[in-house]
Amino acid sequence: MHPSRPHSCRQIPSVDRILDWPELLPLLASSGRDLVLTLLRGVLNSIRQELKDGIAEESEDSGLRETIVRQLLLEFDRWAQPVLRKAINATGVVLHTNLGRAPLSQEARERIAEVCQHYSNLEFDLSLGARGKRDIFVDRLLLHILGCQKALVVNNNAAAVFLILNTLAENGEVLISRGELIEIGDSFRIPDILRKSGAILREVGTTNKTRVSDYQEAITERTRLILRVHPSNFRIEGFSSRPNLAELVNLSKASSVPLAEDLGSGCLIDLRPFGIDDEPGPRVSIEMGVDVVCFSGDKLLGGPQSGIVAGKAELVQRIRTNPLFRTLRVDKLTTAALEATLLAYVRGREATEIPVIRMIRLSKEEIEERARSILKQVERARPALEFDIIDGTSMIGGGSTPNHSLPTKLISIRSTERSALQIESRFRENFPPILARVEDERVLLDLRTVLPEQDAHLADALRRLLHNPQGQFQSEKGN
Ligand SMILES: *Cc1c(COP(=O)(O)O)cnc(C)c1O
Repeated sequence: MHPSRPHSCRQIPSVDRILDWPELLPLLASSGRDLVLTLLRGVLNSIRQELKDGIAEESEDSGLRETIVRQLLLEFDRWAQPVLRKAINATGVVLHTNLGRAPLSQEARERIAEVCQHYSNLEFDLSLGARGKRDIFVDRLLLHILGCQKALVVNNNAAAVFLILNTLAENGEVLISRGELIEIGDSFRIPDILRKSGAILREVGTTNKTRVSDYQEAITERTRLILRVHPSNFRIEGFSSRPNLAELVNLSKASSVPLAEDLGSGCLIDLRPFGIDDEPGPRVSIEMGVDVVCFSGDKLLGGPQSGIVAGKAELVQRIRTNPLFRTLRVDKLTTAALEATLLAYVRGREATEIPVIRMIRLSKEEIEERARSILKQVERARPALEFDIIDGTSMIGGGSTPNHSLPTKLISIRSTERSALQIESRFRENFPPILARVEDERVLLDLRTVLPEQDAHLADALRRLLHNPQGQFQSEKGN
């Protein structure tokens, strides 16, 4: 017909003709022409390329038509679905930053749903019938919980640290111990934040030892702030020390240089019964006289991503009136979720309502019982695949409580047919994805971080692994 055109692409119909194919009508009706057109162009390009490269064979018209439709639908499936989706965290790391940190309580989820579905009194004072402030909702709860004079909430704890430094120390010096110049997670480096805030870093002491006299000697008329940072994800073992908080508070008072403390996690419960004795709580710091503390809302607090600043009224008010506060403030969804999370603490219901706290409190025996019940649902008679329940440890994680682990029981999977990494990747490809640990050629599943209602998914995945050890898990879209 057109001998001059490249032979291999001769049969590919025009985009307009393809869009008239009746089998594409449902797709066009549900998703609109623009998206389908974009995806179709991509599909046709790749078919053309495959024909040119000789990867694909030229086929009958009908075969080509089927290929185009099939690839278009596949492409649509891949593209038009949310990429961010729920996952099952079987790693045993309670606050896994890569997995979204704290899952929210049912109450927090319900509050989000209610507030986002309707108009709200976010910035409207219902008693006065006039404009109000969005701060009041959590401020009242934080005052009660922390015993502070004033509190505010920003986007995350990194923002809180930045705002404190920018407000209280711009163009002045901040004293910080060399041992606390840390990097947390994804390139949050205290020295970088400090520089960007406009403050000047004045390191005191040495990496492993800083005395209160080191701070004292560094104080000049340029000093604006003493910053203490909880070295969340790292710990110097052995010969190391830093002044205790009381000494720093005394120095701060005597020298009239305010003391701020970045607590990282900001734990509100007593972790000592779980063997963790050095996770400082904001209540204690405030009680001891620290002027301003800040911590994350989505670490041990178990709420939404946010950063909480609390302390003396005068300083927190100055932070509140910094114009940058407006760029870092939280939205109504965060406010709703945080209010619900804090209410759980106020009512003494954190142990039952807040998932992170529930997970930390789970005993090894409770975890073992769930593991047994899952394995009971899976026949264990396959010589090539071995399921076991073994002792292990869960981690709190999230850049907090570094070396702290909680005793747990793990489901251990070992196969003579497939490597542990292959099995782990099959779990990852499950719907919903299951994230596991690999150690010593074994895949390990820790139920501490699996929400109990997800146990059934795990049992399903294990069953499929047994019945089809070589293949993919059958996907269960929409689950
Ligand atoms: C986690 C952490 C931060 C950062 O908090 P985000 O809420 O992730 O912004 C800052 N400082 C310390 C000590 C931390 O542990």
